Amino acid sequence: MAKRVFVLGLDAFTPQLCFEQFKDQLPNLSALMEESVWGRSNGVIPPLSCTSWVAFAKGRNPGASAFHGFTTRKNFSYTDFFVANSTVIERERIWDILKGAGKKSIVINVPVTYPPYDVNGIMVSSFLTPGEDRDYCYPKAIKEEINKIAGGYMIDVENFKKKPKDIVFNELIEMEEKRFKVTKEFIKNKDWDFFIMVTTGTDRIHHAFWADMDKTHPDHNPDTKLKNAIKDYYKFIDGKIGEVRELLGEDDVFLIMSDHGAREMHGFFNVNQWLIQEGYMKMLETPKEPTLFREAKVDWENTRVFCTGNYIARIFINLRGREPQGIVEESEYNALVEEVKEKILKIKDENGKEMQTLVFKKEEIYSGKHVDLQPDLVVMFDDLKWGANQMIGHKALFSHTADKGRNSANHYRKGIFVLNNAGLKPGKMDDINLIDLMPTILKIMGVEIPKEVEGKPIV
Ligand SMILES: [Zn+2]
Repeated sequence: MAKRVFVLGLDAFTPQLCFEQFKDQLPNLSALMEESVWGRSNGVIPPLSCTSWVAFAKGRNPGASAFHGFTTRKNFSYTDFFVANSTVIERERIWDILKGAGKKSIVINVPVTYPPYDVNGIMVSSFLTPGEDRDYCYPKAIKEEINKIAGGYMIDVENFKKKPKDIVFNELIEMEEKRFKVTKEFIKNKDWDFFIMVTTGTDRIHHAFWADMDKTHPDHNPDTKLKNAIKDYYKFIDGKIGEVRELLGEDDVFLIMSDHGAREMHGFFNVNQWLIQEGYMKMLETPKEPTLFREAKVDWENTRVFCTGNYIARIFINLRGREPQGIVEESEYNALVEEVKEKILKIKDENGKEMQTLVFKKEEIYSGKHVDLQPDLVVMFDDLKWGANQMIGHKALFSHTADKGRNSANHYRKGIFVLNNAGLKPGKMDDINLIDLMPTILKIMGVEIPKEVEGKPIV
């Protein structure tokens, strides 16, 4: 009989915490690792949840998909953006390939699956769903079923960067309790060949509580009662790993993975503010207080470079013939991109210390059908220890808040994987790529890997 594969996706579950700092307190994960191949995986650029989960599911780099972040510029508009959604993604994700091979999938809470669609099984969408009143399940009737099982299903914790922290912690537990209840029920009572469930709480917990845990963080409050919040959440997830494993059959393959990790973030670098200071961007009116880029009055006829997106900077050249009011000639493009890259690499942090900033030109990181709409430069300030902020109107280049409230962690370029029961000799295997996991699963399941897939199976 062909093997079934169960994937537990732990968004942002980070190697330095689960493989090192907390390992002794995670008995189920540790026991599983003893019998598995495991290690760090190289994420994609940019390591956002939306780009990462889509890249994983396609086994391809983000240039193969028609979006560049949670929001993407519509036809290179300066002000009109769309939210990443399943209608812009080609039907070439793992469950689409499996459907073609007659396999049944259950897909719960994987980012960029709204609106849900027929996967020859069940699809429950994730946190980019526009509202819980929407149809976020396929087939539709599943919504009622999961609400019944979970006692009211939760897609995400609203406003987690602004609510009182103890409430946030409890809601993050409650949300994943519900999701695991549904998952466990479906493992037992539904028909599936491939099952993937992704947690959202594991991402939110880092963003909300990193400074509570990290004594060296500038926002650390020594009186915090929540210094163990992240550790306690990892322990909670570890319990769930045990519960899921109990339900899997002897022949089932169990893969635990994250899309990227997490690390401390000391604040934000205000990229557009810097572009203004350096003369690349001009304003018709300077906002008196921090204002979203798309709401600010930019003098497009005199702007050569601008930045969209937070955390990871996505920088665009205001190119003639592409942008609505582009002024940079095609012939000037390469030199300008190089000049901006060199200047960014020289930026020091707010204390004048050198940063380990990473800058990528689009041709270095993207290939495929949708390279054109990708940003011209992607920047990770100080290897993500500083987040990018696109707002205009900050007094200084560095600031400690962005548009959505407190946040003391950024993503980290490496994620994790633990692959159990796939016939490999147990042990550590480092430096696989996130996009290797999709063809790995197909090979385990005996399904042909499409030729467009760039990742390489590790089995
Ligand atoms: Zn993520």
